[in-house]
Amino acid sequence: MLLDRDIKEQLSQYLQLMEGDVLIKVSAGSDKVSGDMLALVDELASMSSRIAIEKAELPRTPSFSIRRAGEDQGITFAGIPLGHEFNSLVLALLQVSGRAPKAEQKIIDQIKALKGKYHFETYISLSCHICPEIVQALNLMSVLNPDVTHVMVDGAVFQEEVQAKDVMAVPVVYLNGEFFSSGRMSIEEILAKLGDGSDVSEFEEKEPFDILVVGGGPAGASAAIYAARKGIRTGIVAERFGGQVKDTLGIENFITVRYTEGPKLAASLEEHVKEYPVDVMKLQRGRRLEKKELIEVELENGAVLKSKAVILSTGARWRNIGVPGEAEFKNKGVAYCPHCDGPIFKGKRVAVIGGGNSGIEAAIDLAGIVEHVTVLEFMPELKADVVLQKRLFSLPNVTVLNNVQTKEITGTGKVDGLSYIDRSTEAVHHLELEGVFILIGLVPNTEWLEGAVERNRFGEIVVDNRGATNIPGVFAAGDCTNSPYKQIIIAMGSGANAALGAFEYLIRN
Ligand SMILES: Cc1cc2nc3c(=O)[nH]c(=O)nc-3n(C[C@H](O)[C@H](O)[C@H](O)COP(=O)(O)OP(=O)(O)OC[C@H]3O[C@@H](n4cnc5c(N)ncnc54)[C@H](O)[C@@H]3O)c2cc1C
Repeated sequence: MLLDRDIKEQLSQYLQLMEGDVLIKVSAGSDKVSGDMLALVDELASMSSRIAIEKAELPRTPSFSIRRAGEDQGITFAGIPLGHEFNSLVLALLQVSGRAPKAEQKIIDQIKALKGKYHFETYISLSCHICPEIVQALNLMSVLNPDVTHVMVDGAVFQEEVQAKDVMAVPVVYLNGEFFSSGRMSIEEILAKLGDGSDVSEFEEKEPFDILVVGGGPAGASAAIYAARKGIRTGIVAERFGGQVKDTLGIENFITVRYTEGPKLAASLEEHVKEYPVDVMKLQRGRRLEKKELIEVELENGAVLKSKAVILSTGARWRNIGVPGEAEFKNKGVAYCPHCDGPIFKGKRVAVIGGGNSGIEAAIDLAGIVEHVTVLEFMPELKADVVLQKRLFSLPNVTVLNNVQTKEITGTGKVDGLSYIDRSTEAVHHLELEGVFILIGLVPNTEWLEGAVERNRFGEIVVDNRGATNIPGVFAAGDCTNSPYKQIIIAMGSGANAALGAFEYLIRN
C-alpha cells in the first residue's frame, strides 16, 4: 500500500468534494515506479466512484494524466506526485472534476484571456518544498484554458532527460520546448512573464497613503495589519509576498504553532493582510525613496507612490560568494537550497561552502543523498553549534576543510570542480565534483536606499526602539534592519512596533 492510513483518510475526505467524473489515463511499464504508480491510481479509483482508469500510451512512461471524461487533454504527472507534490495531485483531481479553484477573479480572467498555445513542462524533485507552487499554478492554468497544457516531471525518475537538459536545480520550467524559468514563481509572475503585467497608470493614479509598507515578508505583513487596524489608508508593495518564509521548509519556533511549513505560513500571511482594506501591490520593487513634502517611493515600473509615512521591510537574501564561476554556473551545479536541489545530486560529489549552522545542516542533509560532501570553512574552525558538528563528524562521507578560501568554481557548461586556497600554506588545490552549495549567510535588501536612509557597515537600516530611521516619517522593520537576531517572530514583532511608531508619528504631525 503506497498511502498510509492517515493520508488515505484525508484523501477520501477531499475526494468527496469532487464535482464531476474524471478519467485517469495511465502509461505504465514493468519498472518499479510504474508498479507504484499503478498502485496509487488504483487506490484513488477505489476511493471515489467519480474516478475511472484507462491504460494509454503517453509521451512519457511512467506517467498519468487526469482529464475530464470526453476531453483529450489534462494535467499530466510523469512520476508519482507524493512527497511535497501530494497536494498538487489532490488539487488536480478536484479542479479537473469541476470544483472552482481558490484564485482571484482577476487572475482567472487573465488566464482565460491568454492567446496562443502553451505547453509547459516542470522538472521537480519530491523533496522540493518550493516546487508545488509552480506545479499548482501551471495545473490551474491548464484547467482554465484549453490552450495551456502542463506536465510535472519528477527528475529522479526521468534522470536521462534531466541530464540531457542539464537540469541541476528545481523547479525548472520549459515552455514549448524552450527554457522558461528556474526557481520559485507565483501565478502572477508566470502571467507577467507571459506578457500580462500590470499597467503603470494604475499605480500613478493612486491617492497618497497614510502608511506605505515596502516589503511583504513577516515584518511587512505584520506592519500592514497593524496600520490597517488603525483605520488609516495603508498600502503594501511586495516583490514576493511571504519573503524568505517561502524558502523555508519546516518551522518549529513560531510560538503557538508546533510545526508549519514556509509556503503555508506565507499564504496565511497574505490571507491575513487581505482581511483588511490594504492595497496590496505584488510583483513590484521599490527602487528609490525620497522625502519631499510627502515620502515618495519610486517603483521599478517607473510609477511613484506617495505616503505620509513609510515602513521599509525589504528583508534579506542569500549572500553570494563572488568567485569566478558562481554566476556562470548558477543552477548548473551552483545551488543555494539543499532541500530543493539536493536530490538532483544523488550519488554525486558536492561541496558546501560555509561552516555556520545553515552550512552544516545542509551538509548533514546532503550526506544522506550524495556520494560525498566536502565542507569548506574560511575560518580555522567551524562556527556551527556543537550538536550539529558532532552529527556531521559521525557521518562517513563528509570531509571538512577549515581555514580555506574558495578561489573558483570550474566547469564547462556545468560545474566540474572547485579550486581553493589553503590559507595556512597558500597552496591552491582543486576538487573534482558536480555541485556546490553556497551557504554563507544573508545580505539585507537595502542597496536601493543608498544615501536615502542611514545604514550600518553591513548595509542594515539603523532604527531606534520605535523602528524610526534617521528620516522623519520613514520607519523600518525585520531583517533589513540592525536588529541583532533575524527570525520570523522577531520580524513580525518589529513590523508591529514600526507600524505603531509610524502611527504615533502621524498623530503628532
Ligand atoms: C532557509 C531559511 C530558513 C529559515 N528558517 C527559519 C525558522 O525556522 N524560524 C524563524 O523564525 N526564522 C527562520 N528564517 C528567518 C526568517 O525567514 C526571516 O527572519 C524572516 O523572514 C524575515 O522577515 P522580513 O519580513 O524581515 O524579510 P523577508 O522575509 O526577507 O521579506 C522581505 C520582503 O521584501 C520584499 N522586497 C525585497 N526587496 C524589495 C524591494 N526593493 N521592493 C519591494 N519589495 C522588496 C521581498 O520580496 C519580501 O516580500 C529562515 C530563513 C531562511 C532563508
